[in-house]
Amino acid sequence: MRPAPTRKKLRFYQRRLRQARMVARAIQSRNHPILAHIVPMRRCNLSCAYCNEYDKVSAPVATEEMLRRIDLLATLGTQIVTISGGEPLLHPNLDEIIRAIRSHDMIATLITNGYLLTPERIERLNRAGLEHLQISIDNVNPDTVSKKSLKVLNQKLVWLKEYADFDVNINSVLGGGISHSEDALTITRRAVELGFETTVGVIHDHGGQLQPLKAEEHAVYDQILAERKPGLFAFAYDNLFHKNLVLGLPNDWQCGAGSRYLYICEEGLVHYCSQQRGYPAIPLEKYTLEDIEREYTNKKACAPFCTVSCVHRVAMLDLIRNEPREALLRLFPPERPGGPLSLPLGIRVLTSIFLPNPSGKRPTAARRFLSGAVLRIFGVKSTKKENQHELISISGSRGRPRTP
Ligand code: SF4
Ligand code: SF4
Repeated sequence: MRPAPTRKKLRFYQRRLRQARMVARAIQSRNHPILAHIVPMRRCNLSCAYCNEYDKVSAPVATEEMLRRIDLLATLGTQIVTISGGEPLLHPNLDEIIRAIRSHDMIATLITNGYLLTPERIERLNRAGLEHLQISIDNVNPDTVSKKSLKVLNQKLVWLKEYADFDVNINSVLGGGISHSEDALTITRRAVELGFETTVGVIHDHGGQLQPLKAEEHAVYDQILAERKPGLFAFAYDNLFHKNLVLGLPNDWQCGAGSRYLYICEEGLVHYCSQQRGYPAIPLEKYTLEDIEREYTNKKACAPFCTVSCVHRVAMLDLIRNEPREALLRLFPPERPGGPLSLPLGIRVLTSIFLPNPSGKRPTAARRFLSGAVLRIFGVKSTKKENQHELISISGSRGRPRTP
């Protein structure tokens, strides 16, 4: 049954409120992961030539074990859990895993190749409480590199448009042996036509590192930026990371992998990311606030040419948290040198409420009241210790520091 338009709208605004709360809490405290990727299934039904994240043999991780890992992520204070793979739709109890994520009030998202989607499967995902789904489409027609093709997936997109009660993002890719770079533009146009969010990724090598784009790929990238309707953070992301990557230039940033972003493999070990597996490779049940604190500032040699976009996005929130004025300058640069920042309205309102006055003056009582009220609406409680960047031990529903 198709969701009624009013229910769809209501769920849409509920998700936006939950995302706003997520952003507020991520900025307010640094002692918890913002995003964790979790793998319930290493096996995949496809075999894309560039991929190092799948096999053809592994069994699904036992459901009880997945639920235990989700409890552990909640204990660490994780805000978003993305289920990836392999192909997660092959897991027999995926809906139960999604429900478990939502039961801890964490945001539940899924990355899939889309092959197994049907109207009935999409409705089950609605009922389980999925909030966001991403499909990466590599080309218009299947070839020897990838079968994640618009030709094969178009009907799935039409079903998502009709039945999905969650956000859908269509990611197109450039580089990495994709033969027709203009396909990325065709895919973006189709996604925009169906009303989906779009992103474009640069395919990385097996270490998550940049493969510089050719001139024609660069031209397609520029055209995609001109035609798509970017969300707030997609626009900021392009300014901060993609602009350099498409030119083959390094980025100067602090990678928060192991701290603000965790990658939990099928064996339940915490790794930096899908491309840096083996570090630090600590079992999730032994991962503590001390590990999170250590990795927050730990420099990763792979960072300058990294293309792992979900970790970049998490880092944007920490940049805003740590150096708000510099972050805004980099995320929303002025249209002309020396001009005012091109801040979207929502960001302008939030910065005027939360950022310290550049003149150093103490905020007025009215402004303090307003910022307190906004934080309460977002369900965020201010703690002095967290604001002082101290490592804290939180008892009750949160984790405890590991004893050496
Ligand atoms: S569909 Fe995804 S996980 Fe499967 S082989 Fe392709 S890129 Fe890898
Ligand atoms: S910089 Fe971070 S996210 Fe990128 S490859 Fe290295 S560890 Fe992974």
